[in-house]
Amino acid sequence: MSEVNPFETAQQQLDKAAKVLDLDKSVHQALREPMRTFIVNFQVKLDDGSMKTFKGYRVQYNDALGPTKGGLRFHPDETLDTVKALAAWMTWKTAVADVPYGGGKGGVVCNPKELSQAELERVSRGYIRAISNFIGPDKDIPAPDVYTNPQVMAWMMDEFSKSKGVNSPGVITGKPVEVGGSEGRGDATARGVIYTIREAAKELGIPLAEANIAIQGYGNAGYYCATLVQELLDCTVVAVSDSGGGVYNENGLDIEAAKEFKRANGSVSGFDGGEAITNQELLGLDVEVLIPAAIENALTKDNAHSVDADVVAEAANGPTTPEADDILCENGVYIIPDFLCNAGGVTVSYFEWVQNRNRYYWSKSEVYERLDKKMTKAFADVHSRAQEEGVDNRTAAYMVSIEKVAQAMKLRGWV
Ligand code: GLU
Repeated sequence: MSEVNPFETAQQQLDKAAKVLDLDKSVHQALREPMRTFIVNFQVKLDDGSMKTFKGYRVQYNDALGPTKGGLRFHPDETLDTVKALAAWMTWKTAVADVPYGGGKGGVVCNPKELSQAELERVSRGYIRAISNFIGPDKDIPAPDVYTNPQVMAWMMDEFSKSKGVNSPGVITGKPVEVGGSEGRGDATARGVIYTIREAAKELGIPLAEANIAIQGYGNAGYYCATLVQELLDCTVVAVSDSGGGVYNENGLDIEAAKEFKRANGSVSGFDGGEAITNQELLGLDVEVLIPAAIENALTKDNAHSVDADVVAEAANGPTTPEADDILCENGVYIIPDFLCNAGGVTVSYFEWVQNRNRYYWSKSEVYERLDKKMTKAFADVHSRAQEEGVDNRTAAYMVSIEKVAQAMKLRGWV
């Protein structure tokens, strides 16, 4: 997917925090690799009648704190190492958000844009059948991620339930509300991002009503970040982009019109509500908050110097390489690290799973209120740790998470 190997990034980040913590060697060693890795190849009938073999992965990184949890990506460039990295980050994410899970992640190598709906359904069902013995509500619980959505989750939940002969909504989260999904799951990741930006602005004394925001990535996370940052924080979104390019308007963009343009044309590039800019130009805009909301390695040693934002709120997983991290920190940019910033998604996934187990469902306002509490607490834990130890926020977040996971491993007698 990129030149920098995300799993090496994840390991370097862990090593850095382990050093500051003076982490026990046995714990460190155990945390550098996933506990379990599954590679599956499964056959799917295409619409033209031919059969095609697809490759899928599922990585269960660490389950000391509870069943492994994490999304599924459908991406043509998916590799085992990207999935391993994402599974590691889920381990730290569930720990920092204080939800009783370990970390996992999965992916299928495919391009959903080239599949019909019927083919997408057969790929979704085929993948779940292939991993059905390794997942379950008490084992490993998938969820949506890049290019997967609530409909895909519904097919997967149905396939798992049928194969086991049980009605098992808790095997997967991010489902449509009609089949056991939670209110508020759709925009939960973005909502969590917004809560952390609000908390960071309080700490840094940034008046949000006067703040400009640039967002790289206009998928689920990026679009909802754009709407909510205006709705909840009164900020102005001056630029958005996707893999096709971006658009900039110093007076603020019409978010809904940009979304409609992308739906019709496949990209926000060419949207006439502002002037055209490249992704690189967007990353270098003079704004209060920059939100990378696409995929990993957006900020590298080649472009980190150009970042002119006060705050980088990492809605994406792994958007900053370790070299870029050093540059941003040297330049005094306040980073809200990915597994803290975007933990809202898995937090509401946890709420969904709790509701599934109790067969008792909550209102949207109840979900939002509980999410706000969890995100605010997670932010405060990381921010204060960074201040106390004199380390950057990412290292502080790692320290908070590693301690929780390590303690659970010790109590279980693993290390
Ligand atoms: N895929 C999302 C993430 O990276 C959500 C995971 C989940 O809900 O389990 O955090």
